[in-house]
Amino acid sequence: MKTQVAIIGGGPAGLLLSQLLHVAGIDSVVLERHTRDYVEARIRAGVLEQVTVGLLEQAGAGARMRREGLPHGGVNLASDGEQFRIDFQALVGKSVMVYGQTELTKDLNDLLAERDQPVFEAEDVALHDIATDKPFVTYRKDGQEHRLDCDFIAGCDGYHGPSRKSIPADAGQVFERVYPFGWLGILADVPPCDHELIYSSHAHGFALASMRSMVRSRYYIQVPLDEKLEDWPDDRIWDELAVRLGPKAAAGMTRGPSIEKSIAPLRSFVFEPMRHGRLFLAGDAAHIVPPTGAKGLNLAVADVALLAPAQLVPEALVAPVLHLVVQRALHVVAAARQAAHGAQREAALAVAVDDGVRRHRRHVGQHAQPAERIDLLVLGHVVLHAGARDAVEAVAAGDEVALQLVVLPLVAVAHGR
Ligand SMILES: Cc1cc2nc3c(=O)[nH]c(=O)nc-3n(C[C@H](O)[C@H](O)[C@H](O)COP(=O)(O)OP(=O)(O)OC[C@H]3O[C@@H](n4cnc5c(N)ncnc54)[C@H](O)[C@@H]3O)c2cc1C
Repeated sequence: MKTQVAIIGGGPAGLLLSQLLHVAGIDSVVLERHTRDYVEARIRAGVLEQVTVGLLEQAGAGARMRREGLPHGGVNLASDGEQFRIDFQALVGKSVMVYGQTELTKDLNDLLAERDQPVFEAEDVALHDIATDKPFVTYRKDGQEHRLDCDFIAGCDGYHGPSRKSIPADAGQVFERVYPFGWLGILADVPPCDHELIYSSHAHGFALASMRSMVRSRYYIQVPLDEKLEDWPDDRIWDELAVRLGPKAAAGMTRGPSIEKSIAPLRSFVFEPMRHGRLFLAGDAAHIVPPTGAKGLNLAVADVALLAPAQLVPEALVAPVLHLVVQRALHVVAAARQAAHGAQREAALAVAVDDGVRRHRRHVGQHAQPAERIDLLVLGHVVLHAGARDAVEAVAAGDEVALQLVVLPLVAVAHGR
């Protein structure tokens, strides 16, 4: 089997990437280890930032979210029982949307089902030849072995998936912090205690009053890592929430039996680089943040926005483009430095530049991704512009000012801005 982009993992990152690629006319195959029911039942994120909302709409997956989601124009902070509100609308004219990850996943799965995606229950997914221009993925489904050839692989398989692990250890770096506490979460079919979220700091520890709808509430309390779930019957959790959230929230709180209860350990984790050869990591596969900021899902979506060509947002592309430009420029200048001085050196630089462009063009070929096309364009602008040779050297030397003055405007030019 052959596809343009093999996507590993059918969580929010993988599903949305596949849908955005589809909208852009690029085909993909999503390989998901679990069943659809299992994936859609995972209780996780619930707060979508404005950018995420916009991308879901762009992907054609926003209709039910607009109907059933709860827009929040602000958030409440509480300290030892006293509350104050941060008014997003008044301050920045933006809002967030409360809409469960479970619902978002269902909406995207419905869209993907129209083209028989994802491939659920794909076992033993393995990545091969990721550093070449002919990567492929193998997996087993219903007892049969399959091989999926592709141009690119998107590793959207979360923290535990095989994608990140297939990058050689010496080609990446891990930054990690494990916190000495976890979040005990409870989900219950009761109305929320406030129409917006409450983040509370208290001497007993942090607490959060969140929601999934006007009839389903999500609450968290910070607990030591060695705490046992069985020591926390529902009544004890409600009592502790009332103390930590303060009298106003406690008065509005409706208690009810939990429909889900768990302790999530908190950790921050970042792996870089997020690209190795033809493999790109996105979402939890590359980074985990504690749920404190309600960021994980939104960061996963932000990664996908960079990978999907439909999202050619100049600002979003500046960083990866710069990275590529600097790497190419380094190569070009290093080659030129080996030559003699003066006119000879100028001529050698021109030859090296041409060679760099030619090799780059051959490398990306017909399958150039938009970032690479822009990279080529920018590099072309830089090297062909008569006065830009010094700039190439400055860029190669990591000169921040040159980056700002020369490369960024060229990125803008490449985008017709
Ligand atoms: C309790 C909790 C609360 C959270 N609250 C929030 C919040 O309020 N706001 C927020 O923005 N984020 C929140 N997050 C984080 C958010 O859920 C994640 O950041 C988000 O799910 C990341 O999406 P993803 O697609 O990158 O990864 P995942 O959702 O982990 O998806 C990865 C997919 O890959 C599949 N997979 C794994 N291994 C394989 C394999 N070998 N083969 C094939 N498929 C594989 C998995 O089954 C899964 O479907 C929360 C997380 C938790 C745990």
